[in-house]
Amino acid sequence: MTEVPAHDEAHGGALGSRLNWLRAAVLGANDGVVSTAGLVVGVAGASESRSALLTAGLAGLLAGSMSMAAGEYVSVSTQRDSEQAALAQERRELHEDPEAELDELSAMLTARGLSPDVAREAAVQLTERDALRAHAAVELGINPDELTNPWHAAGASFLAFTVGALLPLLAIVLPPTEHRLWITVVSVLCALAFTGWWSARLGEARPGPAILRNVAGGALAMAVTYAAGSLLGAVGV
Ligand SMILES: [Zn+2]
Repeated sequence: MTEVPAHDEAHGGALGSRLNWLRAAVLGANDGVVSTAGLVVGVAGASESRSALLTAGLAGLLAGSMSMAAGEYVSVSTQRDSEQAALAQERRELHEDPEAELDELSAMLTARGLSPDVAREAAVQLTERDALRAHAAVELGINPDELTNPWHAAGASFLAFTVGALLPLLAIVLPPTEHRLWITVVSVLCALAFTGWWSARLGEARPGPAILRNVAGGALAMAVTYAAGSLLGAVGV
Protein backbone atom coordinates (compact mmCIF):
# COMPACT_ATOMS: atom_id res chain seq x y z
CA MET A 1 0.00 0.00 0.00
CA THR A 2 2.91 2.35 0.61
CA GLU A 3 4.44 1.45 -2.73
CA VAL A 4 2.33 3.79 -4.82
CA PRO A 5 3.15 7.15 -3.17
CA ALA A 6 6.88 6.32 -3.30
CA HIS A 7 6.39 5.45 -6.94
CA ASP A 8 4.66 8.81 -7.54
CA GLU A 9 7.51 10.73 -6.00
CA ALA A 10 10.07 8.86 -8.05
CA HIS A 11 8.41 10.33 -11.12
CA GLY A 12 8.69 13.93 -9.98
CA GLY A 13 5.10 14.16 -8.78
CA ALA A 14 3.61 14.15 -12.30
CA LEU A 15 1.70 10.95 -11.65
CA GLY A 16 0.74 12.23 -8.20
CA SER A 17 -0.78 15.40 -9.60
CA ARG A 18 -2.64 13.44 -12.29
CA LEU A 19 -4.06 11.23 -9.54
CA ASN A 20 -5.14 14.33 -7.61
CA TRP A 21 -6.97 15.67 -10.65
CA LEU A 22 -8.69 12.36 -11.19
CA ARG A 23 -9.68 12.15 -7.54
CA ALA A 24 -11.11 15.69 -7.68
CA ALA A 25 -13.04 14.80 -10.82
CA VAL A 26 -14.58 11.70 -9.23
CA LEU A 27 -15.52 13.65 -6.09
CA GLY A 28 -17.01 16.47 -8.18
CA ALA A 29 -19.11 14.03 -10.19
CA ASN A 30 -20.19 12.34 -6.97
CA ASP A 31 -21.32 15.72 -5.60
CA GLY A 32 -23.31 16.37 -8.76
CA VAL A 33 -25.07 13.01 -8.50
CA VAL A 34 -25.99 13.32 -4.81
CA SER A 35 -27.11 16.94 -4.71
CA THR A 36 -29.11 16.84 -7.93
CA ALA A 37 -30.67 13.48 -7.01
CA GLY A 38 -31.72 14.90 -3.65
CA LEU A 39 -33.21 17.92 -5.37
CA VAL A 40 -35.22 16.16 -8.07
CA VAL A 41 -36.41 13.35 -5.80
CA GLY A 42 -37.59 15.99 -3.32
CA VAL A 43 -39.55 17.78 -6.04
CA ALA A 44 -40.91 14.42 -7.25
CA GLY A 45 -42.25 13.88 -3.72
CA ALA A 46 -44.32 17.04 -4.03
CA SER A 47 -45.22 17.19 -7.70
CA GLU A 48 -45.70 15.08 -10.82
CA SER A 49 -45.01 17.99 -13.13
CA ARG A 50 -42.24 17.19 -15.59
CA SER A 51 -41.51 20.87 -16.15
CA ALA A 52 -41.14 21.44 -12.39
CA LEU A 53 -38.68 18.53 -12.25
CA LEU A 54 -36.75 19.79 -15.26
CA THR A 55 -36.61 23.34 -13.88
CA ALA A 56 -35.48 22.24 -10.43
CA GLY A 57 -32.94 19.76 -11.81
CA LEU A 58 -31.47 22.18 -14.32
CA ALA A 59 -31.29 25.01 -11.78
CA GLY A 60 -29.61 22.64 -9.32
CA LEU A 61 -27.15 21.52 -11.98
CA LEU A 62 -26.20 25.07 -12.93
CA ALA A 63 -26.09 26.40 -9.37
CA GLY A 64 -24.01 23.47 -8.17
CA SER A 65 -21.55 23.42 -11.05
CA MET A 66 -21.01 27.19 -10.90
CA SER A 67 -20.59 27.15 -7.16
CA MET A 68 -18.05 24.31 -7.44
CA ALA A 69 -16.20 26.16 -10.20
CA ALA A 70 -16.15 29.44 -8.27
CA GLY A 71 -14.95 27.73 -5.09
CA GLU A 72 -12.23 25.91 -6.99
CA TYR A 73 -11.19 29.11 -8.78
CA VAL A 74 -10.86 30.98 -5.50
CA SER A 75 -8.95 28.27 -3.67
CA VAL A 76 -6.53 27.53 -6.54
CA SER A 77 -5.95 31.27 -7.13
CA THR A 78 -5.09 31.74 -3.48
CA GLN A 79 -2.74 28.79 -3.55
CA ARG A 80 -1.13 30.08 -6.75
CA ASP A 81 -0.72 33.56 -5.25
CA SER A 82 1.07 32.19 -2.23
CA GLU A 83 3.26 29.94 -4.39
CA GLN A 84 4.20 32.89 -6.59
CA ALA A 85 4.94 35.03 -3.53
CA ALA A 86 7.16 32.28 -2.14
CA LEU A 87 9.00 31.99 -5.48
CA ALA A 88 9.49 35.76 -5.63
CA GLN A 89 10.92 35.76 -2.13
CA GLU A 90 13.22 32.88 -3.03
CA ARG A 91 14.40 34.77 -6.14
CA ARG A 92 15.10 37.83 -4.00
CA GLU A 93 17.04 35.83 -1.40
CA LEU A 94 19.10 34.13 -4.09
CA HIS A 95 19.95 37.51 -5.51
CA GLU A 96 20.76 39.16 -2.18
CA ASP A 97 22.58 36.38 -0.36
CA PRO A 98 23.60 33.49 -2.64
CA GLU A 99 26.06 32.09 -0.07
CA ALA A 100 23.45 31.74 2.65
CA GLU A 101 21.09 30.17 0.12
CA LEU A 102 23.75 27.63 -0.85
CA ASP A 103 24.25 26.76 2.82
CA GLU A 104 20.50 26.46 3.24
CA LEU A 105 20.18 24.13 0.25
CA SER A 106 23.04 21.88 1.48
CA ALA A 107 21.48 21.78 4.95
CA MET A 108 18.13 20.71 3.48
CA LEU A 109 19.76 18.00 1.40
CA THR A 110 21.63 16.81 4.50
CA ALA A 111 18.32 16.69 6.36
CA ARG A 112 17.00 14.50 3.56
CA GLY A 113 19.72 11.97 4.19
CA LEU A 114 22.77 12.96 2.13
CA SER A 115 26.13 13.13 3.89
CA PRO A 116 27.35 16.74 4.37
CA ASP A 117 30.02 16.44 1.66
CA VAL A 118 27.68 14.96 -0.92
CA ALA A 119 24.95 17.45 0.03
CA ARG A 120 27.36 20.33 -0.50
CA GLU A 121 28.44 19.00 -3.88
CA ALA A 122 24.82 18.40 -4.93
CA ALA A 123 23.80 21.88 -3.77
CA VAL A 124 26.62 23.46 -5.77
CA GLN A 125 25.67 21.56 -8.93
CA LEU A 126 21.95 22.23 -8.55
CA THR A 127 22.64 25.92 -7.95
CA GLU A 128 24.83 26.14 -11.06
CA ARG A 129 22.17 24.54 -13.20
CA ASP A 130 19.11 26.43 -11.96
CA ALA A 131 19.19 27.81 -8.44
CA LEU A 132 15.55 28.93 -8.31
CA ARG A 133 14.25 25.59 -9.57
CA ALA A 134 16.37 23.74 -7.00
CA HIS A 135 15.12 25.87 -4.10
CA ALA A 136 11.53 25.66 -5.35
CA ALA A 137 11.72 21.87 -5.46
CA VAL A 138 13.66 21.14 -2.27
CA GLU A 139 12.46 24.01 -0.06
CA LEU A 140 8.93 24.69 -1.31
CA GLY A 141 8.05 21.40 -2.99
CA ILE A 142 6.79 23.10 -6.17
CA ASN A 143 7.74 23.17 -9.83
CA PRO A 144 7.71 26.79 -11.12
CA ASP A 145 6.53 25.57 -14.55
CA GLU A 146 3.62 23.57 -13.21
CA LEU A 147 1.63 25.90 -10.99
CA THR A 148 -2.03 24.94 -11.23
CA ASN A 149 -4.08 27.20 -13.47
CA PRO A 150 -7.20 28.40 -11.58
CA TRP A 151 -9.26 28.50 -14.81
CA HIS A 152 -8.39 24.90 -15.60
CA ALA A 153 -9.29 23.85 -12.08
CA ALA A 154 -12.59 25.77 -12.25
CA GLY A 155 -13.46 24.30 -15.67
CA ALA A 156 -12.65 20.79 -14.51
CA SER A 157 -14.90 20.97 -11.46
CA PHE A 158 -17.70 22.58 -13.49
CA LEU A 159 -17.50 19.70 -15.95
CA ALA A 160 -17.22 16.99 -13.30
CA PHE A 161 -20.25 18.25 -11.36
CA THR A 162 -22.29 18.65 -14.56
CA VAL A 163 -21.56 15.10 -15.72
CA GLY A 164 -22.67 13.78 -12.32
CA ALA A 165 -25.77 15.99 -12.17
CA LEU A 166 -26.97 14.97 -15.65
CA LEU A 167 -27.60 11.40 -14.50
CA PRO A 168 -30.38 12.04 -11.94
CA LEU A 169 -31.75 14.87 -14.09
CA LEU A 170 -32.21 12.65 -17.15
CA ALA A 171 -33.33 9.69 -15.04
CA ILE A 172 -36.17 11.68 -13.47
CA VAL A 173 -37.26 13.59 -16.58
CA LEU A 174 -37.11 11.01 -19.37
CA PRO A 175 -39.05 7.93 -18.10
CA PRO A 176 -42.85 7.80 -17.85
CA THR A 177 -44.28 9.26 -14.63
CA GLU A 178 -44.99 5.95 -12.87
CA HIS A 179 -41.43 4.67 -13.38
CA ARG A 180 -39.36 7.83 -12.90
CA LEU A 181 -38.77 7.49 -9.17
CA TRP A 182 -37.42 3.94 -9.00
CA ILE A 183 -35.38 4.43 -12.18
CA THR A 184 -33.77 7.50 -10.64
CA VAL A 185 -33.12 5.84 -7.28
CA VAL A 186 -31.62 2.71 -8.84
CA SER A 187 -29.42 4.56 -11.34
CA VAL A 188 -28.23 7.01 -8.67
CA LEU A 189 -27.31 4.22 -6.25
CA CYS A 190 -25.47 2.35 -9.02
CA ALA A 191 -23.58 5.50 -9.97
CA LEU A 192 -22.65 6.11 -6.32
CA ALA A 193 -21.42 2.53 -5.97
CA PHE A 194 -19.22 3.17 -9.01
CA THR A 195 -17.82 6.53 -7.83
CA GLY A 196 -17.30 5.08 -4.33
CA TRP A 197 -15.37 2.16 -5.80
CA TRP A 198 -13.36 4.41 -8.06
CA SER A 199 -12.38 6.93 -5.42
CA ALA A 200 -11.37 4.11 -3.07
CA ARG A 201 -9.22 2.66 -5.83
CA LEU A 202 -7.56 6.02 -6.48
CA GLY A 203 -6.95 6.48 -2.75
CA GLU A 204 -5.62 2.93 -2.31
CA ALA A 205 -8.38 2.17 0.20
CA ARG A 206 -10.56 -0.94 0.48
CA PRO A 207 -13.51 -0.51 -1.91
CA GLY A 208 -16.17 -2.25 0.20
CA PRO A 209 -16.59 0.30 3.01
CA ALA A 210 -16.21 3.21 0.56
CA ILE A 211 -19.00 1.87 -1.67
CA LEU A 212 -21.24 1.23 1.32
CA ARG A 213 -20.73 4.72 2.81
CA ASN A 214 -21.23 6.42 -0.53
CA VAL A 215 -24.41 4.51 -1.40
CA ALA A 216 -25.81 4.97 2.12
CA GLY A 217 -25.12 8.72 2.00
CA GLY A 218 -26.94 9.08 -1.31
CA ALA A 219 -29.86 6.92 -0.19
CA LEU A 220 -30.21 9.01 2.96
CA ALA A 221 -30.13 12.27 0.97
CA MET A 222 -32.89 11.04 -1.35
CA ALA A 223 -34.99 9.64 1.50
CA VAL A 224 -34.84 12.91 3.43
CA THR A 225 -35.67 15.16 0.48
CA TYR A 226 -38.42 12.80 -0.74
CA ALA A 227 -39.99 12.83 2.73
CA ALA A 228 -39.77 16.62 2.87
CA GLY A 229 -41.22 16.95 -0.63
CA SER A 230 -44.06 14.54 0.09
CA LEU A 231 -44.91 16.38 3.28
CA LEU A 232 -45.03 19.72 1.49
CA GLY A 233 -47.01 18.19 -1.37
CA ALA A 234 -49.50 16.62 1.05
CA VAL A 235 -50.18 19.86 2.94
CA GLY A 236 -50.44 21.67 -0.37
CA VAL A 237 -47.70 24.25 0.06
ZN1 LIG B 1 16.13 29.14 -0.43
